[in-house]
Amino acid sequence: MSDVLKTGINQVRNVGRFNIGSGAFSETANLIEKKRLSAEKKGDQIGIVFLVDHFFREHKGILSKLNCLQGDAVEFIETDTEPTTDGIDMLTLKLRNDGFTNPAAIVGMGGGVTMDHAKAVSNLLANGGSAAQYQGWDLLTLPGIFKIGIPTISGTGAEATRTCVMTNSDTGLKLGMNSDFTVFDHVIMDPDLSKTVPRDQYFFTGMDAYIHCIESMAGQYRNAMGDAYCRETINLCRQVFLSDDMQNISNRERLMVASYLGGCAIATSYVGLIHPLSAGLSVVLGIHHCIANCIVMGAMEDYYPKEYDEFWEMSDRQGIVVPKGLCNDLDEATYNALFKAAIMHNKPLTNALGENYQSIMTIDRVIDLYKKM
Ligand code: NAD
Ligand code: ZN
Repeated sequence: MSDVLKTGINQVRNVGRFNIGSGAFSETANLIEKKRLSAEKKGDQIGIVFLVDHFFREHKGILSKLNCLQGDAVEFIETDTEPTTDGIDMLTLKLRNDGFTNPAAIVGMGGGVTMDHAKAVSNLLANGGSAAQYQGWDLLTLPGIFKIGIPTISGTGAEATRTCVMTNSDTGLKLGMNSDFTVFDHVIMDPDLSKTVPRDQYFFTGMDAYIHCIESMAGQYRNAMGDAYCRETINLCRQVFLSDDMQNISNRERLMVASYLGGCAIATSYVGLIHPLSAGLSVVLGIHHCIANCIVMGAMEDYYPKEYDEFWEMSDRQGIVVPKGLCNDLDEATYNALFKAAIMHNKPLTNALGENYQSIMTIDRVIDLYKKM
């Protein structure tokens, strides 16, 4: 892998403001109050839209801690499936029909699924139209509704990126609304919130940050800023996942920072071979993004040899079992669909393998890789 830094960065927008640290969540109520007051002064709608991970449905008191009042909208977001364009459109329509055409703010509290819902709905309420229209790069023309992200599990970096990932319900294309307008205006990172995450899920989602960055660092399109974010993300992930207790408070905070920095990293650089193969597993077999990445690592020995060893050392250290053998015995049509879903990601594949990636990632090679997982 060359150390030559080949590319600059076109334009990058960061999160407007953030709070971080144990107890930071208690700042949310103040922030919400300020948004209501400023909306009232301007004669705008004062209602707030809260999109909250379904895990917190039973969490007594969470809504009052969020300063949720009568007249606000609260939707608990199911996470069995990842966001789809139809699902986002339906949620946006429901909110519009309930009168939330221009709420004072939208809060997304949860993992990548919930935060991506908040980003997408914010964009759609402001720009009109349907989600599929904006899948791609810089297609939105107006800033979204002021949006606040509160991650409750760490790794995807969705709290920091300029995209919100969704699967197109008609074409199966997994692609986000990549835009400066998709970036959260305010993010509240409180490691107390990720205390309840189940062990396996904590590892799988956390590894998304590590994987984003090892892919970027091995890529051909690198830049000094992306490299700096990646190095520190990988460093933090090592501290967390090579320690004896990946979920203690210090490690939860480290992983929250790693997730955020990893998000900044992918906003300035590209991923590599793992994410396209992982997208195939998600689109064709319905496997969630983060566990799919970990499954793909089973076939990455030849492409990311040092990181392959380190990944398995981390999973051994934490006693996490990554599913294996899921693609051993599929029919031809399914293998073809996996190939098609993976190979369409030309930017990351070019980053990983060069412009000739199609002559390297032939259908036989890709099927072999899926069989190794
Ligand atoms: P997720 O949002 O589905 O959350 C994973 C699971 O953890 C869910 O079951 C959820 O209910 C549970 N959970 C969350 N917080 C919890 C808590 N505090 N306690 C107990 N359980 C909790 O998954 P994720 O791995 O965070 O996100 C994956 C999604 O993120 C995918 O849809 C992927 O496409 C997307 N993604 C987005 C970006 C981006 O830049 N926007 C980047 C990478 C991935
Ligand atoms: Zn990812």
